[in-house]
Amino acid sequence: MKLGKKVLDDFLTPQLNELHEKGLYNIIDTVEGPNGPKVQINGKTVINMSSNNYLGLADNDRLKKKAMEAINRYGVGAGAVRTINGTLPIHNELEKRIAALKHTEAAIAFQSGFNCNMGAISAVMTKKDAIISDELNHASIIDGCRLSGANILRVKHQDMDDLRRVTKEATESGPYEKVMYITDGVFSMDGDVAKLPEIVEIAEEYGLITYVDDAHGSGVMGEGAGTVKHFGLSDRIDFQIGTLSKAIGVVGGYVAGTQKLIDWLKVRARPFLFSTSMPPGDAAACIEAIDIMMESTEKVEKLWENGNYLKEGLKNLGFDIGHSETPITPCMIGDETLTQKFSRRLMEEGVYAKSITFPTVPKGTGRIRNMPTAAHTKEMLDEVLAVYEKVGKELNII
Ligand SMILES: *Cc1c(COP(=O)(O)O)cnc(C)c1O
Repeated sequence: MKLGKKVLDDFLTPQLNELHEKGLYNIIDTVEGPNGPKVQINGKTVINMSSNNYLGLADNDRLKKKAMEAINRYGVGAGAVRTINGTLPIHNELEKRIAALKHTEAAIAFQSGFNCNMGAISAVMTKKDAIISDELNHASIIDGCRLSGANILRVKHQDMDDLRRVTKEATESGPYEKVMYITDGVFSMDGDVAKLPEIVEIAEEYGLITYVDDAHGSGVMGEGAGTVKHFGLSDRIDFQIGTLSKAIGVVGGYVAGTQKLIDWLKVRARPFLFSTSMPPGDAAACIEAIDIMMESTEKVEKLWENGNYLKEGLKNLGFDIGHSETPITPCMIGDETLTQKFSRRLMEEGVYAKSITFPTVPKGTGRIRNMPTAAHTKEMLDEVLAVYEKVGKELNII
C-alpha cells in the first residue's frame, strides 16, 4: 500500500523538477517597502512599472490614517462573517459609497475581486442556464462560471458578430432558462475596452443578463466611476463588478446593481455567507479612497496623462505597443525567451516591468506590460523611456 505522503510526492516532484529544468518556475520577487512608483527589490531601488496601484493610493497618507483610526476603534479583524455578526458600520458605509460611485441603487462588498466572482455568478446562474463568455476573460470569471454549473459558451475576443451568433442560438433554440453575457470591462493584458454599447444592444434584443467585471476600469475609465459609466450605461448593465485592490489601492471586491440583486446576493453569495468579512482597517481605507476619487478627478487625469506620455514615447522609439485604449501599455516582443530577456535587462537598468508570456497570453505574443500610475513623475517616465531605448537597441527590437 502506498502512503498518501508518497502519492503526493510522486505527483509534486516530477512536475516541479520539470518546471525548474525548463526555467519556468516563477520566482516571486519580494517588494521591500510600499508598492509605489519606485520599489525596492533585493536591496535595489527601481522604477515600478508593474503594479495595479493606478492612482497611487496603496500608500496614501489619508487612507493610512483612516485605516489606523478604524483599527483603533474596531480592532484588526471583523470577527465573523457578514451575515452573523461581522458587519460593522464601515461595511455598510463602504457599500453606500460604492453604489454612489457606480450610480446604482445598491452594492455588496466582498473580501476580494476573485471572491466576488466566485460568489456572484453562482448565486444567480445554475446548470439550467448558459453563460456567454469572452475568450479572454479573467481567470476568476472563468472559475466563477464553472462553479455555477451553467453551460459556458465561449465567444471570440470582442467579436460582436460571434457574440450575436452565439446569443441568437442560445436564446432562440437553446434549452436554457437564463442566458448571461459576461466580460471584463477593460482587458488587463491588452488594455482594450469592452464594446459595451454594442453589447447592451445585443443583450437587450435577446434578453441577456449582463455582467461586467470592471476590475481594471474602475478608477481609470469614466473619470474613475468605471467603464459602464464611461459609456453612460449605468442602468443598462445588471452586474457591475469591481475590485478594491487595484485603483482603490486596498483589497476587496464588489457588485453594484439594483437593490433587489444586492438583497439576493446578501443571502446567496457563498463567500459573503461563509468567509469572514473585510478587516475594519481595509474597509475604512476603501471608503477614504472612494471619497478622494469623488472629490476630484485629478489623480485619474494624471494617470491618463502619464499613460499617454509613456505610449507616445515608446511608439516614437519604434516599439509595437499594441492596441491599448487605457493607460495599460503593453510592449509587444513576441518570442517568449526574448521577452524574458528584455524584462531582465530592464531590471538591470533600473526598470521593473514584468514579462507576460504563454500561457497568460497566446504563444508568440510575449510582451512587457507597463502599468503607469498617477504617482509616476515625468522624470521617472523619461528614465523608463531612456532604458527602453537602450535595451531595445541592444536586443535589436528597435
Ligand atoms: C484583478 C482582477 C480580479 C481579482 O481582483 P482581486 O481583488 O485582486 O481579487 C478579478 N477580475 C478581474 C477582471 C481582474 O482583473
